[in-house]
Amino acid sequence: MPLKKAAPFLPIALDQASNPVLVTDARLEEPGPRILYINQAFTRMTGYQWQDLEGKTPRILQGRRTDRQELARLSETLKQGREFKGSNVNYRKDGSPYLVEWNISPVKDEIGQITHFISIQRDISQRREEEHFSRTLLKNIGEGVFGVDAEGRFTFINPAGLKLLGYSHEEELLGQNSHQLIHHSYPDGRSYPTEACPIHQAINSGLSADQWHEDWFWRQDASGFPVEIYATPLWQELGQVFGGVVTFRDISERKRLEGELQQLAYHDQLTQLYNRHAFYELLEQEAARAQRYQTRFSLVMFDLDYFKKINDNYGHHLGDQVLIKVAELATERMRINDAVCRWGGEEFMVLLPETSLSRAAKLAEAFRKKLEAACFPEVGRVTASLGVVEYCPDESLDQLTLRADTALYEAKEAGRNQVMVGY
Ligand code: GH3
Ligand code: MG
Ligand code: MG
Repeated sequence: MPLKKAAPFLPIALDQASNPVLVTDARLEEPGPRILYINQAFTRMTGYQWQDLEGKTPRILQGRRTDRQELARLSETLKQGREFKGSNVNYRKDGSPYLVEWNISPVKDEIGQITHFISIQRDISQRREEEHFSRTLLKNIGEGVFGVDAEGRFTFINPAGLKLLGYSHEEELLGQNSHQLIHHSYPDGRSYPTEACPIHQAINSGLSADQWHEDWFWRQDASGFPVEIYATPLWQELGQVFGGVVTFRDISERKRLEGELQQLAYHDQLTQLYNRHAFYELLEQEAARAQRYQTRFSLVMFDLDYFKKINDNYGHHLGDQVLIKVAELATERMRINDAVCRWGGEEFMVLLPETSLSRAAKLAEAFRKKLEAACFPEVGRVTASLGVVEYCPDESLDQLTLRADTALYEAKEAGRNQVMVGY
């Protein structure tokens, strides 16, 4: 090492080095080592000038919050002639505390005797404050936050995340594969391939998600819940992704409300059948499908016979009960794509996809018989008149429903409790 050549510049370099440096003699017995040198950065960090510290011991820097145990460890390490790394609270000349990181090395002479200690320091108050801030933030936010390594194994999780996933200790998760533990399958139980997982994708592509993503997590007790997640890859300074951070929140409540709103918006509250608005949307979809793929569909419209009498004789409440029961009968044994709608007061509409007119007429007749035979203990027999039509390509939905209404009217005219086909 060309130390000799550099020697004239060393004191200047040391004095101007950006890290605070303090050199003492090697006296470890009371009252401790004496300060022999401080550089400019040390003065900047502490406010002490050389004349303030000349001949003093570093104890002048210590105070109420200085960790005594850490000092004992320091003293012990130096006695053994080893290098000490640590941190502690020290105090500036004006009495304000700062957090310092130490690297204290013994300096030995040619025969191996320790002659000095050189302490290279760093004020880490700000870094600690930042760490403290991050920790406090993670601890207190309501969202779950966890970290994964490049293989998707948990590296940390905050208290909210633990609670949401039903665990009590971080150790239960650390090191485990996050996908296999909390993300292994969809709500319906189908397996969730890792390649489809947005967390995996963020780590693999190195791109942050551009929005919150609706997903599904599994708790420790094997129950699942809907979540919204946001995955961000973590980049190493050298440009490699070494893991990711996932933020998630439980959206069960939101999903429940959405479901309720959906139910309110699309269903009739008395019978829970589709309302007219929802049914119209289904009809539009079915008509578009019929035009595009030359499929056919039919419509059955029915109206209860002499329903006013039921209301008049037994009261509105019993009338309502009849409507509920009729709705149940109409939805029974329905095919998966059939849809029943409460079109108006006691008027109903049934959409029968992939169904010809003659088939629809048979289904309508079967329903008429079923209703006629059904038991309504309080009100006796209930019947309906039905109109059946098949969709003609290019007719409007208003024309289609009007034809159904006309067929129904004809069934009423012809004496009720019967099916009439409309052309
Ligand atoms: P028709 O055989 O000609 O259909 O005779 P109807 O008595 O059924 O005549 P209409 O269809 O004109 O009368 C329907 C009655 O249905 C009128 C109304 O009081 C009653 N209604 C409509 N909505 C409800 C409801 O939500 N609950 C009850 N209980 N009754 C309703
Ligand atoms: Mg009626
Ligand atoms: Mg009516």
